[in-house]
Amino acid sequence: MDIIKVMDEPLANKIAAGEVVERPASIVKELVENSIDAGSTSIEITLEEAGLTSIRITDNGNGMTTTDAMRAFERHATSKIVNEHDLFRIRTLGFRGEALASIAAVSKVHLWTSDGISGTEVDIEGGKVITHRAAALRQGTDITVSQVFFNTPARLKYMKTIQTEIGHTIDLVNRLAISHPAIAFRLAHGQQVLLKTSGSGDLLRVLSDVYGIAVAKKMIPFQAENADYKVCGYVTLPEMTRASKNYMTVLINGRWVKSYPVNKAVLEAMHTYLPIGRFPIIVLQAEADPYLTDVNVHPSKQYIKVSKEGELLAAVREGVHAAVKKAIIVPDAIMKE
Ligand code: ADP
Ligand code: MG
Repeated sequence: MDIIKVMDEPLANKIAAGEVVERPASIVKELVENSIDAGSTSIEITLEEAGLTSIRITDNGNGMTTTDAMRAFERHATSKIVNEHDLFRIRTLGFRGEALASIAAVSKVHLWTSDGISGTEVDIEGGKVITHRAAALRQGTDITVSQVFFNTPARLKYMKTIQTEIGHTIDLVNRLAISHPAIAFRLAHGQQVLLKTSGSGDLLRVLSDVYGIAVAKKMIPFQAENADYKVCGYVTLPEMTRASKNYMTVLINGRWVKSYPVNKAVLEAMHTYLPIGRFPIIVLQAEADPYLTDVNVHPSKQYIKVSKEGELLAAVREGVHAAVKKAIIVPDAIMKE
């Protein structure tokens, strides 16, 4: 007797959601990345009960047409890549066409969106469009995800305290704001505003909004370049360090990634100056031809593979070492630069 069946789409989406939607912060990540990809210059995030009750994201990006607004929730539906060739030159944060389908599979979603011509309002429950109607709106998208994990009780039970969940989201939004200084971010938990950036485009100003002015004042710029990679950013001098690596942010082509080798290269570059067990606060931006990077390694897109890694690490070491050494030897000169 044949026993194999192809899963129906709602079941497949729920399984995929297990990878993409780990906790409220992962939903915020996917939604904000969509807002960034849509060219927004202002993104507001409002959470109730750390996002477990609701997550609302309002942006002023391109918005969607009525057909796209409904198609967006289908699995593998994306406007960002068309063919295999595109997979090797990804410049957007998203490309898998999976996030909205996965999020909608484990929560209730209400979407307003307008492409500047027509506005649409859509309700989705358990991954299915329940209602949709025309709505008068300014251009942009406003999406509310509520009752997260309402139909996956085991995952809901696994959620930690409100404090832990909100901590994950604050950390995430901080990094997204740092990665995009030209976008004005606002993160609120109920009535409490947790982060607000101006969108002025000035990275040092965002670092001041995120880590405080005392830290930003102690940060020095660095840069280095070789045939394949361009590296730049800001790092604190050894007198301003932290006991954890959580303040080290690596951006590759504008994407926040977790890179053990890059962190290690930074620490090697500073090791003669750093007290044991202390880590700098750093934002390191690396730019390369997208062809040299492979983002399609993990559904969260937080781990990436880079070709010519040795070249990247050499640029990191060179840039950071030269800047820190110079600031320590001639501190007055660098502060005036
Ligand atoms: P991906 O981002 O990988 O394409 P998603 O499931 O996150 O997949 O989104 C599906 C599509 O919905 C996107 O490709 C985009 O066209 C559209 N979309 C989602 N969010 C927004 C938004 N905030 N503004 C405009 N378009 C959006
Ligand atoms: Mg996306």
